[in-house]
Amino acid sequence: MKIELDAPNLGAIEKAYIEKVIDSNFVSTFGPFVPQFENEMAGYLGAKRAVSTQSGTAALHVALYELGIREGDEVIVPALTFVATVNPIVYVNAKPVFADVDMKTWNISPAEIERCISPKTKAIIPVHLYGNPCKMGEIMEIAAKYGLFVIEDATESLGAKYKGRYTGNAGDLGCLSFNGNKTITTGGGGMVVGNNEKRMEHIKFLVNQARDESKGYYHPEIGFNYRMTNLEAAMGLGQMERLGEFLAKKKIYNDIYREELGKLDFIKFQESYDDSESSFWFTCITIHKKADLAAVMDSLKNKGVPVRRVFMPITNFPPYMMTDNSSLKNSYDIYEKGLCLPCSTLNSADDIYYACKAIKEILS
Ligand SMILES: *Cc1c(COP(=O)(O)O)cnc(C)c1O
Repeated sequence: MKIELDAPNLGAIEKAYIEKVIDSNFVSTFGPFVPQFENEMAGYLGAKRAVSTQSGTAALHVALYELGIREGDEVIVPALTFVATVNPIVYVNAKPVFADVDMKTWNISPAEIERCISPKTKAIIPVHLYGNPCKMGEIMEIAAKYGLFVIEDATESLGAKYKGRYTGNAGDLGCLSFNGNKTITTGGGGMVVGNNEKRMEHIKFLVNQARDESKGYYHPEIGFNYRMTNLEAAMGLGQMERLGEFLAKKKIYNDIYREELGKLDFIKFQESYDDSESSFWFTCITIHKKADLAAVMDSLKNKGVPVRRVFMPITNFPPYMMTDNSSLKNSYDIYEKGLCLPCSTLNSADDIYYACKAIKEILS
């Protein structure tokens, strides 16, 4: 029995698409699968347009750039996230302002956003952590009240919904990732999603070196080479056909984890808001008893159960350190107690039952 933490799940469908690409010789950024993948994704999310990029990080960078976030501006982000939410803010010379998350959902809370707003605030990046939707309704109301942009970091939450609306299509712009460990993968890749045609057309232009193709190789602005390749898009199209299957599996894993571990009074789960549906990229828990997480992880590894810790708060890293972290207590508390459990869709239900048994044995 080999349990996978977050390994990708690729098969015959993806292989057939990739073979078509190789047969056509269009392996680079030119070819039919790029627009096809973009249209497929926009249709799935109910958005007007999606523009593919080289990574989720590139998607976040070009989204901030497109919205005119520049030097002197502040962008509110949760302290508990992956570092790629935050670095793009510095790429545009703006300043990240770190908000705490709430203990129930592990997501940035509307009250925390209001606490962090200053006259320099230009945007908010809510992160739907581990697939769990943020309170988008209230976040959009705050944004409207203060005149701020909302860029959703939906890189972990493809398929999740808040009040019936897909994450990634609930803000001004949404960013997706197709990194190898995400719900669907292109090896590496991302997308920006939006409903403002003019803005999306300009993003498409920016990621293609700001090239005005009507004038040949003519570049009226500074752009980026952030294009996805036809080869990557082909894999993405294959993965899109299996998205429903992947989401259903992750939901089943979450049900099993809750059923098996929910009775232990020292284990708590990351919970969702009432009107939201998580995509359960990962099922995550916090352990509320004296336990050395490194030792727990080692023991689990010896039993063939790979787990990973919850993200370290960004304010622990040298470029982002703060002298006083007292406003970020929940982020630190979740980091100190949190574990992410195996979520790869290569696992069977039996694998997940086995993982639960191992967790119970080691922690009881
Ligand atoms: C994966 C991820 C990203 C970046 O995506 P890449 O495709 O790896 O560049 C950004 N933010 C969060 C929260 C992520 O988990």
